[in-house]
Amino acid sequence: MLFGKHINYYYLRFLPAMLFGIVALIVVDYTQLILPRLYRAVVNGMIYGTAEIDGTIVPFSMDFLLDHVCLPMIGVILCLILGRFLWRVCFRGAAVRMETHLRGRMFDHCKDLSQQYFHENKVGNLMALFTNDLETVQDCFGWGVLMFCDALFLGVMAIARMGQMNLTLTLLSMIPMVFLLLIGAIMDHHLERCWDARQAAFSSLSDFSQETFSGIAVVKAFVRETVRLSGFRTLNKINEDTNIAHTKLATLLNILVTLFVESVICVILGYGGYLVYCSSFDAGQLVEFIGYFTAIIWPVMAVSQLVEMRSRGSASLKRIGALLDAEPDIRDASDVIEPAPLRGGIAFRALTFRYPGAEYDVLREVSFTVEPGEHVGIIGKTGAGKTTLVDLLLRTYNVPDGTLFLDGHDVNRIPIHTVRKSIAYVPQDNFLFSDTIASNIAFAGDADNREAIEAAARLADVHNNIISFANGYETVLGERGVTVSGGQKQRISIARALIADAPYLILDDSVSAVDVRTEKIILKNLRQCRDGKTTLLIAHRISTIETMDKILFIDDGQVIDVGTHEALYARCPAYRTMVDLQRLDEEREEVSSDA
Ligand code: ADP
Repeated sequence: MLFGKHINYYYLRFLPAMLFGIVALIVVDYTQLILPRLYRAVVNGMIYGTAEIDGTIVPFSMDFLLDHVCLPMIGVILCLILGRFLWRVCFRGAAVRMETHLRGRMFDHCKDLSQQYFHENKVGNLMALFTNDLETVQDCFGWGVLMFCDALFLGVMAIARMGQMNLTLTLLSMIPMVFLLLIGAIMDHHLERCWDARQAAFSSLSDFSQETFSGIAVVKAFVRETVRLSGFRTLNKINEDTNIAHTKLATLLNILVTLFVESVICVILGYGGYLVYCSSFDAGQLVEFIGYFTAIIWPVMAVSQLVEMRSRGSASLKRIGALLDAEPDIRDASDVIEPAPLRGGIAFRALTFRYPGAEYDVLREVSFTVEPGEHVGIIGKTGAGKTTLVDLLLRTYNVPDGTLFLDGHDVNRIPIHTVRKSIAYVPQDNFLFSDTIASNIAFAGDADNREAIEAAARLADVHNNIISFANGYETVLGERGVTVSGGQKQRISIARALIADAPYLILDDSVSAVDVRTEKIILKNLRQCRDGKTTLLIAHRISTIETMDKILFIDDGQVIDVGTHEALYARCPAYRTMVDLQRLDEEREEVSSDA
């Protein structure tokens, strides 16, 4: 049986089904114990030629066999079949429903966890929780409860009958059982540790496989297949070793159980045979006694399986518990107020920010304002802190109070949902789902509004590419959108953001993979369709942002200057140097391409 704060609730929730299952189980267990009495009647009938019906001695005949042995046996068998079917349905049903609900809770909790959590916990590890660990907990919940109840009822009933027949023989038979329970308790702890190690090894293996497959293009390009293969072999070997260690312990426990069961049979045959010899027992009684003991072999075996299963289940439940207990650290403050629809104003006021667990500030004393409707370019070296600005705007991380304002409201006083709903975002990695292009573009909206989807795709200059595919907008993209080029992915992501028509649009390095001509078309379209709506465009190329209303030039986490391209070029030497260097590079590229 498995208990814990994340699972106890399900015992209550599925109590009716489980109680019904337990009643069916008790009926089965009780009925099962009728069989040894029938064996006794047959054995004694064959030896003495007589049988007993309600205290009356009758001859052991064919009629007796049919009426008092065969017919009851058929009844018992039918009852066993029906009862076993019922308890299986009840227990398995409850376990499957528990698994489905727990999986739902895990997924629901995951969606509230911060990006930081997903940085720290890799996908492979999370997938292991959702598959292996969940399955183990389900096993424990269903079969575990079943085995426990069965061992308890059948064990108690059979031992009580054995005790009624001969107390000394029963006590002697129980001595090995006590040792068995002691060993089970000792091994439980070791088994749990082994299972924990096994699951950790499995998580590392799935992390590694998942990363290799996701980054297969890089692996192939750098001819690192052999290195990855050898890395995989090492992890696979560790997985094998931990599996073997666990199997060895589980097998040892199993062998010990068999040993104890056999030794009890020896005790029964030895002492029971002696009782028959002394005429304290007849042969039929000895057979009946053995029949009861045989009935408890399964519960005894079940105890060993239960020990092993419980240790696995509790290790898995701990891992699942760690996920469910992880605090969603990005959440609304208690005093948030729904503001009037946001119009697009932004103000950073002396904002200093450090990533959780990092050793230095990524942004220092950042101050700038964006008026509603302004188009702002953000430029700076790689690692300057541009994406971090966006992460804070989107409330992906916690923002210090009084440092970031949207339309004059402290961002911490606005519900996170409202902030994110007001911002359309084109992320750097342009992640696309394995779905149709139409569904990807309409991700945040109505997938049936084909007109809006096509309009957004036209603005992002990707409509012609899409209609050139055999299935057009219904083309299903492969995992992570691998069937389209990098530039097409970028433009589909832009269309996805444009269709939201939000008061804020943020494009993070979103036209880097398109050619200069396409970039010009997209920028012109953005100017028109986003006229009067705040648009932030992070870029590396000066040509991408030079026509913006203003440019934010940042370096090493600090705002160096803010202004139009002309103003910055005239007054900011660092900006001027960057522009000049980029122009020089462009000229060199043009000369070399002409040559
Ligand atoms: P940019 O977009 O200008 O290239 P970023 O904002 O992505 O730069 O990163 C700024 C700095 O913050 C870099 O030094 C980067 O290594 C660091 N950084 C980015 N994300 C994290 C994170 N999740 N945890 C810790 N440091 C981070």
